[in-house]
Parts: sequence; structure tokens; C-alpha cells
Amino acid sequence: MTSNAENGFRPVTGVTRGLPATDGAGVSLTRLIGQPGLEMLDPFLLLDAFGSDRPDDYIAGFPAHPHRGFETVTYMLAGRMRHKDSAGHEGVIEPGGVQWMSAARGIVHSEMPEQTDGRLAGFQLWINLPAAHKMDPPAYQEFSPDEIPVESRSDGTVIRVIAGRTDRGTEGVVEQPLTDPLYWDVGLPAQTAFTTALPTGHNGFIHVFEGSLEVPAAAGGSLTLAAGQLGVLGAGNGIFLQAGAAGARFLLAAARPIGEPVFRGGPFVMNSREEILQAMDDYRNGRLG
Ligand code: FE
Repeated sequence: MTSNAENGFRPVTGVTRGLPATDGAGVSLTRLIGQPGLEMLDPFLLLDAFGSDRPDDYIAGFPAHPHRGFETVTYMLAGRMRHKDSAGHEGVIEPGGVQWMSAARGIVHSEMPEQTDGRLAGFQLWINLPAAHKMDPPAYQEFSPDEIPVESRSDGTVIRVIAGRTDRGTEGVVEQPLTDPLYWDVGLPAQTAFTTALPTGHNGFIHVFEGSLEVPAAAGGSLTLAAGQLGVLGAGNGIFLQAGAAGARFLLAAARPIGEPVFRGGPFVMNSREEILQAMDDYRNGRLG
């Protein structure tokens, strides 16, 4: 692998395996962003990976809970998740489908597995909203698996383009001009190289969930990202990666940082402590969702 200094490829500047966590009513997951090893990557606030064949790990689901101030993006790999909000919006996210929910000023919803056995797997990503848009009305962008554009290349590379645009012009379905996100699920056959431009000002990460990837390292040379690991991307114009002997499947995400103060209060993410207290008060008094 060539060094990254002279060609502008983004090196991986940090690697985390995340932390095992339990959320909702007792769902086992791995928290990759939003944990001590990676508190946030502006505007990404949280990334949870869940995946189990054991109903005990997921069956309790996420009963009614609030959100305010950001967006939740749920992408399913296996199994089905039913969501239902306090405004009467309801639907099922299928394997390969995505729900991009802008909670903004507030929503109360439940996210429950639509199955009692079998495998349930997927990701939930939280993306911040700028202060000027935290109190906008909530909005959904939902897509079934067959609505997600797939770019299949002659070398066997397959890119599911949820948001953003590939170098070859495949356009994702999600629109969010506030952070201009790119969110792809990329599959590479064994030893296959992959390169793409990424907007220089965006923060980004790679999360490998199958196989392994060789990526440029910040210290020079390269390092291997194994399945389960997340690599934070440093500065540069684009990325250059190569799949290992078993191929690779990974999430590639990038978005424009917001650069504002971030105050967290569980399911609320605002710009100040006062706004968190206000959100809690609004929730207690039925003014949220
Ligand atoms: Fe939620």
C-alpha cells in the first residue's frame, strides 16, 4: 500500500472496538461512537451496532422514549423493527431498509423487534442538528430495501448508497443539506481495492462488520481494521482501502461538522444545559412529541 502523505488519502487516526452496552428495555449492543474511546465525531453523536441470533439479546426492544435535537438513522441488516411514534406515524424497517428520522424539536417513539426468534442485526447512528434547526418539526425519510440505490461494479464491489453520491454518480436517497452526509454500506471481494473522493471538510469513519480492511495509518504504512472495529478518518481528499483475504463489508460515513457546543442528556442532545433541562421538563409535561 502506498503512503498517504503525498497522495492525499485520509489515514485512519484512531481505532475503537466500542463498548458492550445495554439500552432500551435490555437490548445488547456495541456502542462504537458515544463511549469513552470515541465520545463523538462531530456531527456523529452515537453509533450502536446490534446483532444477535438470541431473542434474549433483543426481544425487550426500545419501548416508548423521547428524542430531541438530532437525527436517528436506523439501518437494518437482518430482522425487522417496528417503530411507532406519538404523532401516529408507524412502520416496519425491513432488512436492507433505512429510517432517517429527524427528531428535531421532539418525538416520543418505540422501536420494537417485529419477530420473536431468528437474527436481528443493524445499526443506529445519531447525527446532530445545528442549533438553528434543533426545534424544527420532526420529519421522516424512510426507504425500503429496493429503494436504496445499489452500485455494482465489475470488480465485484457493491455499494448501497443511503446518502451522498459516489464518484460514478450513484445518488443516495436521503437528503440532508444541513450536514451533507454520506452513508454507504460497501461490500468488497477478497483483496479488492476501493477508492473514493470524500469532501475535505467532512469528518468521517469506517466501521468494518465483515472480513477485514487494510487502510492507510496516520503514522505511515497501513493497518488492518478487523470486523467489529471502527476507524476514524483523518484529513485528506479521499480514501484508499483494500479488502483482506475474506473480503470486507463496512459502513462508510462522512458529514460536515457543526462546530457548536454539545450538551447531552440521555435521549436529548442540545447546545446548553438549560436546553436539556427544558427538554426534560417538556417531556414530563407532555409538550414533546
Ligand atoms: Fe429512539
